Amino acid sequence: MPGFEFFGEEERKQVNDVLDNGVLMRYGFDGMRNGHWKAKELEASLRNVMKVQHAQLTSSGTSALTVALAAAGVGAGDEVIMPTFTFVASFESIIAIGAVPVLVDIDDTLTLDPQAVKNAITAKTRVIMPVHMCGSMAQLKELKQICNDHNLILLEDACQAIGGTYDDKPLGSYGHLGCFSFDFVKTITCGEGGAVITNNKEYYLNSDHYTDHGHDHVGNDRGAESHPFLGYNYRISELNAAVGLAQIEKLPRFLELQKQHYLILKNELAKVDGVTFRRIPEAGVPNYGFLNFFLPNENAARNAHKALGENGVDACFYWYDNNWHYIKKWDHLKNLKSLGRLPQEIKTQLPDYHKQDFSKSDHWMGRTISSLIKLSWTEEEVTARANKMAEVVSHFV
Ligand SMILES: *Cc1c(COP(=O)(O)O)cnc(C)c1O
Repeated sequence: MPGFEFFGEEERKQVNDVLDNGVLMRYGFDGMRNGHWKAKELEASLRNVMKVQHAQLTSSGTSALTVALAAAGVGAGDEVIMPTFTFVASFESIIAIGAVPVLVDIDDTLTLDPQAVKNAITAKTRVIMPVHMCGSMAQLKELKQICNDHNLILLEDACQAIGGTYDDKPLGSYGHLGCFSFDFVKTITCGEGGAVITNNKEYYLNSDHYTDHGHDHVGNDRGAESHPFLGYNYRISELNAAVGLAQIEKLPRFLELQKQHYLILKNELAKVDGVTFRRIPEAGVPNYGFLNFFLPNENAARNAHKALGENGVDACFYWYDNNWHYIKKWDHLKNLKSLGRLPQEIKTQLPDYHKQDFSKSDHWMGRTISSLIKLSWTEEEVTARANKMAEVVSHFV
């Protein structure tokens, strides 16, 4: 998955453009910048690649999620439905704006179970936030239907699935809002950065203002701009945007390489009786950033994962025991360990996650092993890896 594997001349040239004139900020300084507008160019490129009307860059994927929620008018006491398997950024962004993260089960797609989503809807629900984990997507058609039925916002976290599609639409563009991360380990990277995409002009303008202290960006005198509402600083720097400009050009090649490597691994593992694969929703094409497979039970998966590591197969993950990605280890969320006082709404409305039954999620996560798909592997290396993985895993099925 990581775009940093292909960091080179193109990135250096883009960054040097910025260094040559010294304007490191995306707004203003028109005279000094010699026509270089890296953030604006990357936004134009994102609109083009994602086939959407609007794109707003941010300082990170986490801030992109925060901005998307704020732009849609979500705030204190509103409930946002999110999956048990994701990255901590999901609930961080929700809590950051005073809203309440409502966690629900995943299914064999490793993303939100639409039935579990339906069961979690209350009068306070405002948003459904599917997370397209590990390169593949949520059941977007079903989730969109639920959103239509209940007048909710569909916000796609596509941070780990850039370049995948659903119903021929780029992931992130199917819902009302979509978010990407360009942190250092993502498919394309800016070092740090993120983006919100949407076809909704109001959400876009809100995002544009909100990421820059509420500036309305009318005219070209920053000091004279008015602030229609409160904002924050979630801006990306020109240096980071410059790296992204080089990387987004490489996205088609990255996707092609990921697919090739993924298929070699999958075809070999498919020969092992007892290994099955994560379900990819009909109408979906993943970005092939990870290969996710199931062993028959939790013990088998845990032991197989351990054996893979011992046999020199790196970059395999057993998320069930991982601190960052699954509810089981999120004691700081369960105990609401914040530095300062949280809004009262969160304290009173947050479900008691110590007690909630997530056995359906446990059932799938306990059995899942994910292999990262690296871009830099040679064909011989992937083939050797595939053979090794199949051989090791066959002892545990
Ligand atoms: C990486 C990631 C984020 C957050 O992105 P940052 O740029 O690291 O803040 C959010 N959601 C998912 C699913 C991610 O993988």
